[in-house]
Amino acid sequence: EPVMHERLLDRRQLEHDLRDAIENDGLALAYQPIVDLDRGELHAFEALVRWPHPERGPLSPAEFVPLAEETDLIVPLGAWVLREAARQARRFDDLGGQAAKRVMHVNLSARHLEGDGLAADVTRAIGEAGLRPERFELEVTETVMMQNAERSAALLHAICDRGVRLAIDDFGTGHSSLAYLHDLPMHTLKIDRTFVDRMLDDARSEAIVRTIVQLASGLGMRVVAEGIETTEQLAALRAAGVRYGQGYLFARPLPPDEAASWRPPLLTPRPRPGRTLPPEAPPPER
Ligand code: C2E
Ligand code: MG
Ligand code: MG
Repeated sequence: EPVMHERLLDRRQLEHDLRDAIENDGLALAYQPIVDLDRGELHAFEALVRWPHPERGPLSPAEFVPLAEETDLIVPLGAWVLREAARQARRFDDLGGQAAKRVMHVNLSARHLEGDGLAADVTRAIGEAGLRPERFELEVTETVMMQNAERSAALLHAICDRGVRLAIDDFGTGHSSLAYLHDLPMHTLKIDRTFVDRMLDDARSEAIVRTIVQLASGLGMRVVAEGIETTEQLAALRAAGVRYGQGYLFARPLPPDEAASWRPPLLTPRPRPGRTLPPEAPPPER
C-alpha cells in the first residue's frame, strides 16, 4: 500500500534524524521544578527530554521516546539524558543561585534497564559532572519494574548501593505491587496526576491519596504529587499531608536559564498535624 510505504519511509527518516540528534547534541532537556510544600522552597528539578526538530518543530517525548524504545536508540538517548542532566545540575551549582545543590530527577526507560550498561552510564554521568550520587534521583515506572522484575531489582539495587536515589513514577497507574516497595530501596513515590486531577470531586481518589501518603510515611519514603494545576488541588494535597509537588501551577518544564532563576511562590504555613483543617484552605500567596 502506498500509504503504508510512505509511513514506513517517514519512520525511517525520523529514526535517522533521532540518531543524528543524539550524536550531535540535537536534543534538549527542560527542567520542571519540584517544590517543598512545607518549606515553600525549590526542592528538585525533573529533567524532561525535548527534541527541537529542524523541520518538524519541537517534538514531545510521546512523539519520539516510543520510537527510540522500539529501536536501539533508547540506550544512547538515555545515556545522553543522564549525562546532560548531571552536567546541568553542576552548572546550576556553579551559578550558585536558588537552583544550586538541588536534587536532579531523571526518567529511565524499561529498555535501558534491560541492557547491561545502565549502572555504568549513571556512574559515568555523575562522575564526569563531579556530582554527589545523592543529588541524582532516577524515576522508574511500575511497568518498568514489572517487566523482568528480578533482573530490574538487581540492577536497581546495584545503582542504589552507589548512593543514587530511586523514585517510583506515576504511582497507582500500573501494577502497584507492595512486593517491590518491600524489596527495593525506593526513596520517593510520585502520585500520578490522574489522582490529583480527580481528588477534588471524587472522595475515593482523595482517600487513595491519603492512603499513599500513609504508606510512604510508614516506609520512610517521600511523596511527590504530579500535575498540580490549581490552588484548590494544592490545598487538598497539603491537607492530605503531601510534602512535595510539581505542576503547571508552579511552573512548566523550563529551559535551563529560566530554571536557574526560578523562585517558588510564597506558600501559607501548613496547618499543624492532628488538627482538622478549615473547610477551605487559603490559596497560596503569589
Ligand atoms: P513523566 O515522567 O510522568 O513526566 C510528567 C509529564 O507531565 C511531563 O510531560 C510534564 O511536562 C507533564 N506535566 C507536568 N506538570 C503538569 C501539569 O500540571 N499538568 C499536565 N497536564 N501535565 C504536566 P512530558 O515532558 O511530555 O513527558 C511525558 C513522559 O515522557 C514523562 O512522564 C516520561 O515518562 C517520558 N519522558 C520524558 N523525558 C524522558 C526522558 O528523558 N527519558 C525517558 N525514558 N522518558 C522520558
Ligand atoms: Mg517522571
Ligand atoms: Mg509521572
